[in-house]
Amino acid sequence: MLEVREVPGKGRGVFATRTITGGEVVLREPPLLLYPQQSTAAAFCSFCLRAFNSLEDSAAAVVPCGTCGRVGFCSSACAAAAAADVGSHCAAVCGLLAACNTAGLSDEQQTALQFLARCCALRQAAAAGDAAAAARCAAIAGLAAPPPLVPHPAEQQSAPGTGSNSSTDVVVRELHGRLSHALAAIGAGPAAALSPAEAAELLRKEATNGYGVMAPSAPDGERRIRGTALYAQASLINHECLPNVARFDRFDASSAPASSAPHPGANTAVEFRALHDIPAGEELTQSYFPLPWPLADRQQRCQEDYGFQCTCPRCKEEATWSDSEWEADGDAGMEDALAAEGAADGAACGHHSHQHDAPGGGPAAAEQEGGADPACISLFLLKYVCPAEGCYGTLAPLPPGAGAGDQYECNMCGRRRSEAEFMAELEAAQ
Ligand SMILES: [Zn+2]
Ligand SMILES: [Zn+2]
Ligand SMILES: [Zn+2]
Ligand SMILES: [Zn+2]
Repeated sequence: MLEVREVPGKGRGVFATRTITGGEVVLREPPLLLYPQQSTAAAFCSFCLRAFNSLEDSAAAVVPCGTCGRVGFCSSACAAAAAADVGSHCAAVCGLLAACNTAGLSDEQQTALQFLARCCALRQAAAAGDAAAAARCAAIAGLAAPPPLVPHPAEQQSAPGTGSNSSTDVVVRELHGRLSHALAAIGAGPAAALSPAEAAELLRKEATNGYGVMAPSAPDGERRIRGTALYAQASLINHECLPNVARFDRFDASSAPASSAPHPGANTAVEFRALHDIPAGEELTQSYFPLPWPLADRQQRCQEDYGFQCTCPRCKEEATWSDSEWEADGDAGMEDALAAEGAADGAACGHHSHQHDAPGGGPAAAEQEGGADPACISLFLLKYVCPAEGCYGTLAPLPPGAGAGDQYECNMCGRRRSEAEFMAELEAAQ
């Protein structure tokens, strides 16, 4: 149902090759790499990222790594799977992390070390003839990354003799130095070593393509990150601020029925579901951050973290709004949405379908079009943003045939709402 094509100005993108029904799972894929956030590593399995407090008998089940003592596993099956997986907490990665001086490193830097250590182990295994490790190295190398930032001339002048001194370079040099020491300390072969430029490139790929896997909200409402997942295919789905697919993960899904022993890592696949019907030929898009974010925040995140300027129909339209229109939108959102509702097909706003029905349609044509209709933006946000206080998750229909009728499900908190309930809420707010 999908194909990968070049998108002018955007690199590769994923397109529907047939009509996709709202709620359909368009992509389901296990991670290429999965690694814990250092600051929360005591609470989540370092192989599958399952929350220890989601286990039925957590005290009995948690298996700490006996070698480095820095991470734990949700079961002995996961501990064994991690040890056997060169891209996980195998002996090489464990030894490397244990040998690495992490004094003074931030949580982010220590998490970056988890990633780089896995890359080193995979390279070493690939060089020793492990075909699966070589394929994973190639998949990581194939992830897109923005080009390195060109240092500002003024910065170069202020730091004579050191070349560029951007903060990114300093961080990479520091991590690279500590990793190189650790590699030498454990007697790793030359194949495992990374040059500073290779480390920098890997970290850019990680920053651009890594999904932050979030923990369930704490009682205080704060939501912590449990780790990072890199996916080969999911990373190809480009961003839009009115996306047509949403990501679902199930890291804490209860284990398989007691009759069959759960396969370690079975909870780590990511799933993308269509928010509404998607016509053949349309590009699949996801939002890289919560849908309700205001324009300035979205633009900044796209630019700084992903290296592109978002020119999607929503951004184009919102860029034309004056301050008073932003305020008015808050009050009149429901009315706008109701006005648009007549034009909508009941599943999504018209903009999505007419945009791609245009002759010579497709992303290039869509790029040239104007902004989204303001009422469509309002309806979209009311319909697809989770109404739970402070959630900011995205609602997508349950897969067809799930026996749940017209239910939508939040990808963050799991809350459900039916189409009929949504319509009733819209009417009540009028
Ligand atoms: Zn586990
Ligand atoms: Zn260990
Ligand atoms: Zn946008
Ligand atoms: Zn929610």
